[in-house]
Amino acid sequence: MNEPLARDTDDDVDALRARWARERKARLAAEAIAEKATRELYDRKGDLELLEAVANASNAAKDLRSALKVTVDAVCNRSGWPVGHVFLLSRDGETLVPTGVWHLDDPELFAGFKRMTEASTFTNGVGIPGKVLASGAPIWIEDAKADPNFPRGQAAEGGGVNAAFAFPILIEDSVVGVVEFFSPVVAEPDDRLLEMAAQVGLQLGRVMERDRHTREIARRAEELSRYSTELEHANDELKEFAYVASHDLTEPLRTIAGFVQLLKQRYEGQLDDSADEYIGFVVDGTERMQALIEGLLSYSRTGRSELVATPVDLNDTLNRAIGALAAAIAESKAELEMGELPIVAGDATQLGRLFENLISNAVKFRGDRPPVVKIGAELKGGVWLFFVSDNGIGIDERHRERIFNVFERLHGAGEYQGTGIGLSICKKVVERHGGRIWVEETPGGGSTFKFILPGLGGDATS
Ligand code: ADP
Repeated sequence: MNEPLARDTDDDVDALRARWARERKARLAAEAIAEKATRELYDRKGDLELLEAVANASNAAKDLRSALKVTVDAVCNRSGWPVGHVFLLSRDGETLVPTGVWHLDDPELFAGFKRMTEASTFTNGVGIPGKVLASGAPIWIEDAKADPNFPRGQAAEGGGVNAAFAFPILIEDSVVGVVEFFSPVVAEPDDRLLEMAAQVGLQLGRVMERDRHTREIARRAEELSRYSTELEHANDELKEFAYVASHDLTEPLRTIAGFVQLLKQRYEGQLDDSADEYIGFVVDGTERMQALIEGLLSYSRTGRSELVATPVDLNDTLNRAIGALAAAIAESKAELEMGELPIVAGDATQLGRLFENLISNAVKFRGDRPPVVKIGAELKGGVWLFFVSDNGIGIDERHRERIFNVFERLHGAGEYQGTGIGLSICKKVVERHGGRIWVEETPGGGSTFKFILPGLGGDATS
């Protein structure tokens, strides 16, 4: 009765053993798969960390060299390879030159190789860097010393340099540098490492591009500042020249004017009619020239010295300007309407000239009706807005900017007398006081000159 039971038991044990063996195999296989997957994940994580480190270094690096150094260190630490170095393409676009950016686990061991590398340059196709330059792709060499195209093989002898891999730094499709790594063991190509290296190369290309742009911007900024200094010098010289020239011309011109006047007084009517006419032309010409030179002198004087600002009550300034123009105002029967003006910080003489020039023009450029000139100011947004308006001949819109330039006149001397300097002085005065001047049309006809001046201590241009 027991026997069948014993057989049953043996069969069960066998079956159990077989099942256990199957399960063990399956479990080992599953463990192997899991281990492989974990390792791959771990490697991927490492790769990503490396790329992230390179990206961070690229963004944070103050200069290109520090970004290259961080990258070479990161790749060596990640791959376990002890030697890394960077070549950059020279300006000629054909030669790779060593940068002095290295990662060396053991500087003494690799000293010979480093010396040799730093004394070498590589052109298309020559050595490991030259090969990468030619192909634009990463390369892997299992045993560099056995490679006939490895000029530094001799120095590598003592240094334990065997396997090598290198990748290009790319800006778009152009190789701008090569990063190379060496290992003392002969190693099989590692596709993952190569793929990651390609990514790093692209990343470094972006850093180099940014570095180039930054340097280009700095170069242009420096150039601009040089031009601007030169321009300032030229401008100063020109101002000085205008001042000296007009100043020195005054004296001989005064002599000419004096003698021509004398000629006219003594000999008018004694010569023939043409001679009288010619003398008249010379007198007119010299007077105009005197007015021009005086204007020029006044213009160059306005910008010569630093503005010394003191509180100026513009009501006083305006009254003095009107006093100086009394004859012209009376002769033209001009009607003046004046509002209350403020106190500003400025140069009283220059501000006086500003009002005098504007009011003189308002009276001078009258049409058929008697001139009505209005002068006033209002506080707008923290700055004083002044106006001097007239009901005169007006200014065509297309000339409203250029009339502020020196010698710009819209009329011949026969129509309206003048030198074309008055408004350029006005502009200079207003701008030196930190303000702005322009002209608009008066409703109903005429011109309204407007300007802003900062209040006491303010800045009207901001
Ligand atoms: P000038 O008065 O000596 O001619 P300005 O520099 O003062 O020189 O003025 C330049 C030109 O602007 C004048 O010749 C004139 O054509 C025009 N202009 C200036 N003020 C007025 C005004 N109030 N009305 C019309 N035109 C004017």
